Amino acid sequence: MDARVTPAAMAAPPHDPAPWQPALQALWADTLPELTVPCRAQRWPAPRLVWLHDAVVAALGWPVEALHGPDGVALLAGAALPPAARPVALVYAGHQFGRWAGRLGDGRALLLGEVACPNGALVDVGLKGSGATPLARGGDGRAALGPMLREALVSEAMHALGIPTTRTLAVLTTGDTVWRDGPQPGAWLVRVATSHLRVGTFQWVAALDDPGLLRRLWRFAAQRHDPALLEGLNPDACDPDRVQAWLGAVVLRQARLVALWMGVGFIHGVMNTDNMTISGETIDYGPCAFMEGYDPATVHSSIDLGGRYAWGNQPRIAQWNLARLSETLLPLLHPDHDTAVALATDAVRAFGSAYQRAWRAVMRAKLGLAAPHPGGAASPVAWPPTVPAQDDAWTEDDDALITDWLNALAAERVDWTLAHRRLANAVADVAQAGLGALPEHAPAPLHALWSEAAPLQRWWGRWRARCVRDGVGAPVRAAAMRRANPWYIPRNQRMEEVLHAALAGDLAPARAFAAVLQRPFDEQPGAERWAAPAPPEWAQRYVTFCGT
Ligand code: AMP
Ligand code: MG
Repeated sequence: MDARVTPAAMAAPPHDPAPWQPALQALWADTLPELTVPCRAQRWPAPRLVWLHDAVVAALGWPVEALHGPDGVALLAGAALPPAARPVALVYAGHQFGRWAGRLGDGRALLLGEVACPNGALVDVGLKGSGATPLARGGDGRAALGPMLREALVSEAMHALGIPTTRTLAVLTTGDTVWRDGPQPGAWLVRVATSHLRVGTFQWVAALDDPGLLRRLWRFAAQRHDPALLEGLNPDACDPDRVQAWLGAVVLRQARLVALWMGVGFIHGVMNTDNMTISGETIDYGPCAFMEGYDPATVHSSIDLGGRYAWGNQPRIAQWNLARLSETLLPLLHPDHDTAVALATDAVRAFGSAYQRAWRAVMRAKLGLAAPHPGGAASPVAWPPTVPAQDDAWTEDDDALITDWLNALAAERVDWTLAHRRLANAVADVAQAGLGALPEHAPAPLHALWSEAAPLQRWWGRWRARCVRDGVGAPVRAAAMRRANPWYIPRNQRMEEVLHAALAGDLAPARAFAAVLQRPFDEQPGAERWAAPAPPEWAQRYVTFCGT
């Protein structure tokens, strides 16, 4: 805080200034009234702010101190909103576990409005767990403290890992009890998203079979996330080429997002079409978890009995969801149905190669494999990578090297996070010792993660040769790898531990965990226990619940 007293402040009249209020817009309500239901948040007996993320408050341009007092709590409760605010529940549909579920919508969420941030971005600010809306379908509209803190911790960890995500501004407790498998402290969360446009939003409009509304929705989405596509286009118009380009942009964002998830071992857990954004942000943290020992079939969600949303299935599911999105756009893609289907199919097929390029970039960053540049020197892939426009000369060899690394990890279910970080540290040790070359054999800390070292040794020899080939020096490679391979992720066992303490009234462990997760790539003295994997027996039995 700047404590200087400016002349203007000294001259200000000595009465209390009007309490601060945010400027909340009502763009969803104004532009897409058919997709909104006016609604108010429930009143709670003793609302209390338990978690406030200053960085998110600052990103909105809101004064942190204003949120700490009773007025702030009333605002975050949706109880004292500026007069122009028009809070709404949003309507959407979706496929859940592959089955059409029809209309869903915000049953326990409320969009307070949009905020124009100081950096020029426009974001949605909403509540989750704020009481039953007319879309609650018999649900209680509530949330419990455990799942809300979990979303706060994981979403902010994802942000620090460089992965697009909705953010958590605050968590508040209601002062009463919500019933799940037993009594739980009631809570809600204040969420910030670049938008709450979901694949399911388009699905609901397609189900209404209202071409005018579909055009308006598409324009709303394009305005929000891809405004360049609307340049020079008449208001209300909808150009097929631009719709196609837009679909391509959504496909690319999702390919990148899922590749980044995969890179940190994130398992969303419930990738239904209503839980996939148009913005390319991770949304709706429920039964999510992080893979520890490498096994593509890893699944922890209690409701995912068939493993549909297992770690290794996520790219395929993202493409399936995008196919559902593309179907909704057929009337905008071409007047002739068959032609429209062909265009949509092409767009969804493009996910396959986009994802491969995204995944290769992720793994190159993690394994320290520099990318070749035509006519120039190779350079390390910076984290978080963007999706390269095309394959390159080293694609095939690198794909084989990546596959063999994964096979070596799979052979002993080696911890995903630790293996990559120790590989990065092996290069850092070479750099620190001022050695010119990587050792012939994998160093002990990496070696120690395997009981049978032969597959690792064989791989190490090829990886070492690849590093020689790209010509990047150890200091540069080590720095890039340490920025691509976190030391700290929200490990499942630690998450359970801090949530358990929080439910017993002690938030200190959750705060300590959050602080460590803010700097996931820096080895923090005294924070070793947050980096340790769970015992394999624990990890394999770990089950997450939807938390609704
Ligand atoms: P989710 O699986 O959490 O994305 O939620 C799927 C749908 O169920 C969404 O329409 C939610 O709004 C709704 N929902 C989840 N939990 C509740 C609840 N406790 N009360 C009302 N609606 C809920
Ligand atoms: Mg959802």
